[in-house]
Amino acid sequence: MKPITLIALVAILLSTTAHAGPPTPNYAFVNGRWWNGSGYEERTVYTVDGVLRSKRPVYIDQTFDLHGGFVIPPLAEGHTHWIEPSKVDDYNACYLADGVYYARDMANIPFLVDQFRDKVNLPTSVDWVSAMTGFTGPGAHPAEILEGFVRFGLLPKDWKPDYDKQGEFVVSTEKDIDERFPLLLEQHPAFVKAFLLFSDRYQENLKDPNVKPDARGMDPKLLPHLVKLAHAAGLKVIVHIYSAADFRNAVAAGVDELAHFPGNGYGVIKSPELFQITAEDAKAAARAHIPVTTTVAWLGEYKEKNSPSYQITRDQILIPNMKLLRAAGVRILIGSDKFRRDVVPELQSLRLLGMFPDAELLRMDTETTAQATFPHRKVGKLQDGYEANFLVLDRDPAANLDNLSSISMRVKQGRRIFVPASAVSRPSPDCTQGKP
Ligand SMILES: [Zn+2]
Repeated sequence: MKPITLIALVAILLSTTAHAGPPTPNYAFVNGRWWNGSGYEERTVYTVDGVLRSKRPVYIDQTFDLHGGFVIPPLAEGHTHWIEPSKVDDYNACYLADGVYYARDMANIPFLVDQFRDKVNLPTSVDWVSAMTGFTGPGAHPAEILEGFVRFGLLPKDWKPDYDKQGEFVVSTEKDIDERFPLLLEQHPAFVKAFLLFSDRYQENLKDPNVKPDARGMDPKLLPHLVKLAHAAGLKVIVHIYSAADFRNAVAAGVDELAHFPGNGYGVIKSPELFQITAEDAKAAARAHIPVTTTVAWLGEYKEKNSPSYQITRDQILIPNMKLLRAAGVRILIGSDKFRRDVVPELQSLRLLGMFPDAELLRMDTETTAQATFPHRKVGKLQDGYEANFLVLDRDPAANLDNLSSISMRVKQGRRIFVPASAVSRPSPDCTQGKP
């Protein structure tokens, strides 16, 4: 045996050792119509080592005839909070049943995440990233939500009422941020979350005992300092906004993304003008390449309840704001902020605006939102070299999003995944199917 052959043999043995464990099967998928972002292409696609390939591999373990099925990348939930560890099995089943493989958790609590970390980011679970503990001001959102969790027994009864460092980072000065930022880094967040609510009235609201936490956030003057620390640590800053002033303050502070549309839901009916952004606001966000996540799932709930808020928020806030953002070229991401539901009801609510063809909503979610959730992974497209994550549907979801209910096969990291029939045929969008 020549030395070169021996070296080659050793190399082959080493590479085999490196792939120890059951190999990912090689599959061929024939007779499928593959989504390319705007239409479908009929082609044969192979999955090799969990990656999509257009070239046939040497060995094929199994060939699947898709019988003209429609193949799309999986859906992404751009805004959620997985805050019930005991329900994470239900969340996983329900998201995967609906074809939602990716979830971006927009603030959570280590006490809760420690209870379910081993149930996410598996080949057979949802791929999940989180901001972990968020930054807010004294007596501010989301303290009122944490208080509810303490009442329901989800969080320890003995936690101090401002929840600083336990459930949120409460900051009033740059020094407060400096002290807490290393604690956040220990939690390995995927990005940094901060809360602004009526931030133009920060000082007045802070002094006013009648203002509740759900109308207070962080001092907007502190935001540039947080952005500086986050960027130095290689992390993006995503800011919860509520009013048009929050939109403006966040963009001016150099943040990377806005979570929520101005006027996300409740209490906006009395003064819609507080939530109407200007063309200049939209252009400033576009210039800084700042995307905005929708979170308008509540609009569908307003419509179901025949609420008078439906027409006002839709016609006076959401549609005009969306028109300005689109005209300016701001990237729109899709997320619901509905913790027991996934992104499908959000897509339904966005249809109520009458501004987007279903094919565009599909692309905004499966491509733009998926890529924003995992910016360092090759997801969101069905091209050569991308992760072999896809859904096969009997009916075309780009022609009608209702057809998302016709998923016949789910492939994740090159393997078929199987979900409980009860999750597929559940009677409501609620992932826990009404269980308390
Ligand atoms: Zn949220």
